[in-house]
Amino acid sequence: MISVSELKDLLATPQKIVITTHHKPDGDAMGSSLGLYAYLIQKGHHVNLITPTDYPEFLHWMPNNSEVIIYTENVAKSIGLVEEAALIFCLDFNTLSRINDLGEHIRTSSAIKLMIDHHLEPEDFDDFRHWDINACAAAQLVYDFIVNVMKEANLINKDVATCLYTGIMTDSGSFRFPSATSAVYRIAADLIDLGAEHWRIHQLVYDNASENRLRFLGYCLSNKLEILRDFNTALITVSKEELEKYHISTGDTEGIVNYALSINGIKLAAFIIERTDRVKLSLRSTGDFPANEICKKYFQGGGHRNAAGGASDKNLIDTIADFKAILPEYKSQLLL
Ligand code: 5GP
Ligand code: MN
Repeated sequence: MISVSELKDLLATPQKIVITTHHKPDGDAMGSSLGLYAYLIQKGHHVNLITPTDYPEFLHWMPNNSEVIIYTENVAKSIGLVEEAALIFCLDFNTLSRINDLGEHIRTSSAIKLMIDHHLEPEDFDDFRHWDINACAAAQLVYDFIVNVMKEANLINKDVATCLYTGIMTDSGSFRFPSATSAVYRIAADLIDLGAEHWRIHQLVYDNASENRLRFLGYCLSNKLEILRDFNTALITVSKEELEKYHISTGDTEGIVNYALSINGIKLAAFIIERTDRVKLSLRSTGDFPANEICKKYFQGGGHRNAAGGASDKNLIDTIADFKAILPEYKSQLLL
């Protein structure tokens, strides 16, 4: 581990820095990463932001997006940058398996690794950790890192503020989850004062759907939603053929699971989707119900108590059957 003063000394002179975040990056992954990017470049560092995979178009408007390097499309270049880096910031994830093949390159790199994250059970691969599971977003921790660790609130310019606001807004469900504390609202207010145009950011993220996405959402809600009242559970499942029929691309399925959770009385919602490589599950829950426990125990995944994910190597039909077979074990908690 390195101390804060050692880190400050290192960051006092220009360094080769890589920032990376989890695969299929979401608003917080990109917001925290681009926010940190916009901060570090002001200090004269040579910064490269590498994402393990591509990410939704509704996040492409953020400042410095054109600088992002997508690992799967630039493998050799990405590996070279990781090997050359003096510091690697790992944002919004805490196990190297969350960044696919890139993880092993980072594990073996000699760079100082810095984790800024809010997920449970971090893996021990880092040299510096700014980690708090109570934070509503990694972007909140980047704000805290800049303001309270680096003591450089003066470097939160409009670009930094815009990106961090995006991360906080998306990961807190637009400031409605219990994690959106009064402290989070104060940070949001500060970011607005520093240039984040909250109304514009909300519009760019949430009122920017493709026609395909909206029609696909309608199809899911009217044809694919299954409600299991005995377990206060709702699920939506989609096959590869259905994804192709609606020309669904990265990000178009984001948030669909929340519609299932919005039904009166539903405590657990699942979105089960047949991707090209494997079947992926997105779980959401209300209250104390541990969606992450199901993902960890049965679907090689994890996450937060109320928002978790995992995967299965079985086919779609068998994965759906597996999911339903697990519910009796949780019946008493689901019916609370
Ligand atoms: P989503 O359902 O949006 O894909 O993921 C919701 C949350 O679950 C993510 O923020 C992340 O914390 C967690 N998550 C999703 N997929 C996985 C996975 O495969 N492994 C782990 N450990 N966590 C996941
Ligand atoms: Mn996050």
